[in-house]
Order: sequence, then C-alpha cells, then structure tokens
Amino acid sequence: MKQILFSLTDSELEQFIIDLGEPKFRAKQIRDWLLRGAPDFSVMKNIPTPLRDKLNETAQTLPVTITKKLESVDGQTTKFLLGLHDKEQIECVLMRTSYGNSVCVSSQAGCAMGCKFCASTLLGLKRNLTADEIFAQILVAQWELRHGGGTSPNGDPNNNDVSHIVVMGTGEPLQNTQNVIGFMERANRDMNIGWRRITVSTCGIVPGIYELISWGRPINLAISLHAPNDELRSEIMPINNKYKISEVLNAADEFTNLHNRQLMIEYILLGKKNDLGETELYNCTPEHAESLSKLLTGKNCMVNLIPWNAVDERDFASPSGNAVHRFQDILIKNGIHTRIRRERGTDIGSACGQLRLNDKKGL
Ligand code: SAH
Repeated sequence: MKQILFSLTDSELEQFIIDLGEPKFRAKQIRDWLLRGAPDFSVMKNIPTPLRDKLNETAQTLPVTITKKLESVDGQTTKFLLGLHDKEQIECVLMRTSYGNSVCVSSQAGCAMGCKFCASTLLGLKRNLTADEIFAQILVAQWELRHGGGTSPNGDPNNNDVSHIVVMGTGEPLQNTQNVIGFMERANRDMNIGWRRITVSTCGIVPGIYELISWGRPINLAISLHAPNDELRSEIMPINNKYKISEVLNAADEFTNLHNRQLMIEYILLGKKNDLGETELYNCTPEHAESLSKLLTGKNCMVNLIPWNAVDERDFASPSGNAVHRFQDILIKNGIHTRIRRERGTDIGSACGQLRLNDKKGL
C-alpha cells in the first residue's frame, strides 16, 4: 500500500522526506499542495521531477482517489466517486449555487440504518470514515473549483472556494460522531468555513445529538423526518423503533435553542404503486400535511420537501408535482416555513448512494 502523505503529521512528513534523502523544506511545500487538494504529484510544479517520480512510486497525496467524475448538463453539479485505500468507495457532490459552493460529504462507507427508500444502505455498512477521509472530500471539491470545469450560476469566476458543507452523503454521521466532529474542526480551522455554514443531517440518533450539544459549536442540524407519526416512520425508518419522533425532536430543540439556530426538517415525498399501476401517495396526503403541521407548530424550523429520487431497487414511486405543491401549500397555510428542495444533478444519479451502487452493478 502506498503511504498517504495527507494523513502524516508535519513531523512524520518531514521524516518521510528525509528518509528519501531530500531536504526537509520539501515537506512544507508538499503540505501546501496537500491542503489545496492536489490529486497527484505531477501538479507540484515547485518540486523537482526526480522527487516527484520517487514520490509517485511510494506515496499518494490524499486518502481518496477519484474513480469517476460526473458533471451535470448545466455544469453546476459535479459528483465524485472516490476510492479508499481498502477499495471501499464513497461519493461526494459539489454544488455551485448562487450563495456559494456547497459540498455534500459522506461520513461512512455504506450505511447500517436500513431506510426503505434509500440506495446507500442497500449493501449495508462497510465502515466508518476517518476524519481525514471526510476532510479529503472537501479538498477534492476545492481542487475541482480551482482547476476543473463547471459553471457558477452567478457567473462569478472568483467564486472558487468551498463555502458550505452538508454532511448528507452516504452514512449516518451520528454513528461516527467523533470523526465527524474532528472533520468539522479541521474544515473550520484549515479552510476557514464558519460553523453556521456547516449542516449535519441525521436520521435521529438521539445520543449523537447530545454529543453535538456538548461539543457546543453553532452548526446547523437537519433531521430526516419523512413521516408525521411513529407508526408510519417506523415502517420506512427502522431507527424509529429505537428513538421515537418526540425524543428526536426534543433533542433537536435543545440543540437549536442552545445556538438560536433554525432546525431543518427533511421530508421526502413518497408515492407507491397500487395494483392498477397508479401512484398513490404514501406519506404525503393532505392528512399527513396536517399532522406534520401540528407536530411542528411553534418550532423554529424550516421544512425541506424532497421529491423522492427514484432508486430501482426500492419499491416507491415519485409523487406528481401537483401533489408536492399541494403538500407544501397546506404546511404554509398552517404557518410552517417550507420549501421544495431544488433537484440537482438528477441526470448524474445524485440520489444518496446511487453512484456507488451502480458502480458495483457494473453500470
Ligand atoms: N443519514 C443521514 C444523512 C444521509 S441521507 C440522514 O438520514 O439524514 C441525506 C438525506 O437524503 C436524508 O434526508 C435521506 O433521507 C435522503 N434520501 C435518501 N435517499 C433518498 C432518495 N432516494 N431520494 C431523496 N432523498 C433521499
């Protein structure tokens, strides 16, 4: 296995360079490149070619290597399939938006949560990612912004830094809380990304929310709710058998009150095919909208409605645009802040875990 230079401490990197018979100031130069996300040694123009060749034989820059890169037709979304040292694969997505550049990172290889609508969990959990492996996803995106193609929607050529992070890729971040915290600390320190520009999304691991509370940084919290009552939620999200909606929302309230932040509620809109092949609404009838409104009334929250991204292996269907708007209208009428999440990169398989799954299937 090649030595991953990014994962060495400064003194270990110096020692590595000295052992190659090189002056130690090279370590500092290399570290600068690593923090800019250099994908390999060939880009390190201030390092002499013989040393670059030597490094190439024994080492790699980051703990992730790009296996596949897909760009949406509008050039605003780039999706990466990344390989890890043990051949596991993860996904990360760069979204260029009018408010900045947002990166969606994975926190685990695979996922153990078993949500019935999601592709990420189909192959189970392989392992937690290290803080380095999560951080490296940001660096891949940063390099792409500086050196790749893509188009910023406001056409600003200087808009080429990662400004926002969402931990909403594959995996359940609060099953890997300490590494996710380590990652956020570094993103804040080394890339100057403000706490308020970081969002962690959870299916509702209550002890993990309390870990975030004791950590104490004012990041944003998103709860994947997806149903307005425990009965329905337990059908599609096994974690609900362990932590009920009321416990999750109480913990989330404590978190958001502490920092005076708005809680984000994610709600996928799911339909199901009936015997006649028609799509029936599953969790998004007008009655569901009314009970969701009751559940959330009085909370400082924003509901993000997410039309379901179809996954072949999953037994759901996407509801019509009309149904989506009717659901939203009821929430708004009841005074609940609600928006419909803009779909990004559906042409490049942006649903959770789709790219990794397709790769395993040889697509
Ligand atoms: N485990 C965390 C973060 C990863 S999932 C969580 O549950 O929040 C990120 C979001 O994408 C979650 O809200 C998840 O429910 C949603 N999601 C998963 N599969 C989806 C699909 N096929 N279409 C739309 N959203 C999906």
